[in-house]
Amino acid sequence: MGEEMYELIRRLFPICRSITGDGVRETLGILRERLPIEIHEVKTGTQVFDWTVPREWNIRDAYIMDSHGRKVVDFHDNNLHVLNYSAPIRARVPLEELRKHLFSLPDRPDWIPYRTSYYSENWGFCVSHRQYLQLTEPEYEVVIDSELKDGHMTYGEYYKPGRSTEEILFSCHVCHPSLCNDNLSGIALAVQLARRLSDLDTRYSYRFLFIPGTIGSIAWLSLNEAKAERIKHGLVVVCVGDDGNLTYKKSRRGNSEIDRVVLNVLKSAGKPYKVIDFYPYGYDERQYCSPGFNLAVGSLSRTTHGEYPEYHTSADNLSFVKPANLVDSFDKYCQVVDALEHNYTYVNLSPKCEPQLGKRGLYGGIGAEDKKPVSTMTLLWVLNLSDGANSLLDISERSGVSFDEVAAAAAALTGAGLLARV
Ligand code: ZN
Repeated sequence: MGEEMYELIRRLFPICRSITGDGVRETLGILRERLPIEIHEVKTGTQVFDWTVPREWNIRDAYIMDSHGRKVVDFHDNNLHVLNYSAPIRARVPLEELRKHLFSLPDRPDWIPYRTSYYSENWGFCVSHRQYLQLTEPEYEVVIDSELKDGHMTYGEYYKPGRSTEEILFSCHVCHPSLCNDNLSGIALAVQLARRLSDLDTRYSYRFLFIPGTIGSIAWLSLNEAKAERIKHGLVVVCVGDDGNLTYKKSRRGNSEIDRVVLNVLKSAGKPYKVIDFYPYGYDERQYCSPGFNLAVGSLSRTTHGEYPEYHTSADNLSFVKPANLVDSFDKYCQVVDALEHNYTYVNLSPKCEPQLGKRGLYGGIGAEDKKPVSTMTLLWVLNLSDGANSLLDISERSGVSFDEVAAAAAALTGAGLLARV
């Protein structure tokens, strides 16, 4: 499965994406080979809350050429070389002027930075600092064969109905060009999760959004306000393939069910992890958690944006993400889904003193073939706290027993006629 996710990342890596344009369409087209996502096109100029869908950007070629006709910087070597959303230009530019349009990282002389200029028109090149230092001729020929014109912003959506119309949202951005952890890893994980859920009978309905960052979530929320009300829990899926420990950024609410479930899953995994409170920056959780929506949407990642030096550089490449990390992240997402699906409240049907477990074959706990056995203590916790007011998550938190085991105990006790769902 890790290989499958990694293979998708490898396939998507070379495509030059942006917040609009054919790169996103090509990306969604590839995702559609694996998942029947619906593709939406929102017209340039569409008003979405305080924002306007911008002109569509497409690019064919870009280079800086020296006096010998050599392309010293070439978009076809790496699509990060062009400032994303650059306006077109074809001119001879004095070096001094050109330098104002170059971006490099002096501290990381071999890496190319990823820079954008979506909402203020500009042109530019991102180069390794080594390339920057080699530009010594008095002037260069500069070509950016791009176009900015009225068109559409494209996004993808996959909806899987469940028994309830209440939804769980998974959102990931599809606007970054050749960068792997941010966020081809998130796309690959979301596709895999959607495929896993697609043929299951689920309690919740599931919505997966494959959207350009910021403008995509703003547009979706603006065009789907009624649907947004059905979102009960959500996660922004991002940066899930690097070697770092898992990080959970809480929703703005801070103590919603999704926040508690993710923390429960991370705690039960027994490995180091990090928790950060909501703050109004980062990825699309900013929009989902804006005060007018205040949805219970957090973000589960490995190393978060800006916390790794490779972030937004050419070093966030195919060797920076690893199949094993993708699998580990995927596994946690699955555990979160399982916990949300099974977090019900039960009532003890034999609440006056302890029921006798021995005569029901439950004393000494229960073994399970493929899972951890359920201890007697867990059965006693579930019986004691199932007074119709505590959910299984409450019981897991209070007892310190993993959600999995609490849920298995509840199932066994229900089977023995000692527990009923409220
Ligand atoms: Zn980013």
